[in-house]
Amino acid sequence: MLMSQKNIPSRRQFILKSGVLLGAGLMSAPLTSFSSERYKSWTVGEIMDTFISQVPNGPFEKTVDTIKIGSRDTVVTGVVTTMFTTMEIIQKAIALKANLIIPHEPTFFSGQDETDYLQDDPVFRAKYDLMEKHGITLWRNHDYVHRMVDDGVRVGVVGDLGWDEFYTPGNRILTIPKTNLRSLINHIKTKLGVPAMRYVGDLNQTCTKVLLLPGAVGGRLQITQIMEHRPDVLVCGESNEWETPEYVRAANEIGMKLSMIEIGHSASEEGGSEFVKNWLNENMPGLAVHHIPSRNSLQVF
Ligand SMILES: [Zn+2]
Repeated sequence: MLMSQKNIPSRRQFILKSGVLLGAGLMSAPLTSFSSERYKSWTVGEIMDTFISQVPNGPFEKTVDTIKIGSRDTVVTGVVTTMFTTMEIIQKAIALKANLIIPHEPTFFSGQDETDYLQDDPVFRAKYDLMEKHGITLWRNHDYVHRMVDDGVRVGVVGDLGWDEFYTPGNRILTIPKTNLRSLINHIKTKLGVPAMRYVGDLNQTCTKVLLLPGAVGGRLQITQIMEHRPDVLVCGESNEWETPEYVRAANEIGMKLSMIEIGHSASEEGGSEFVKNWLNENMPGLAVHHIPSRNSLQVF
């Protein structure tokens, strides 16, 4: 008798059953072959394609999310997600035997990671050569994680800030319980592990309507979003000093209640790298994935 399609045990059921048998000592397969049966190994290209397949309109024709070193065909031994691929992050990846690094931001100091002018520079060479020597592949994931059905970076950052209950998917405005700017800064410092932040405004100003724009979205978008939503406070990653901070200062000078907080780029989006790690854990079971925060290059003194 033919089995109908739905009666054929799925691979997952088979694996679960095998696991039960193995656990009961009824199967003699060595653990190593069982492990490779249980978990698929992944190439860089398969990880990229799987991630991109759940991004509306992906793959994009124009994107900064390219492989900066290494190859799609590399079989992945482990993954490190982070904001910035510093020398320290590369060394940690090597120690963890992770040969795929997925940063959110550029590795070679400009948006497009152009390296033509850096070829003889010792700083560039140190980073590049260390990765090359250890067979590391680096795939930037910036555009794709931002353009998931709900921006994966914002989802991660909202979670890190402990604001899930105040968040409506897709919305940049969060209404948080009434606080003042001083307490809000302290909350963000604690939650994101940032020692100090720059701000514009009055520390005693009441804040409840928050415009959350992680990273560096640009002065024009920050200001037009302020104009559209009239929040109490803009919470952003960074801003050119001559753009939004001057707008917020001028707003205060004419008596408006408006403030802004600059978290710093790295910490403001690090939740997005944690999001990518969690996504890989869910979709690529058995793959070793580590999230390592890269912290801010700029110190405060
Ligand atoms: Zn970003």
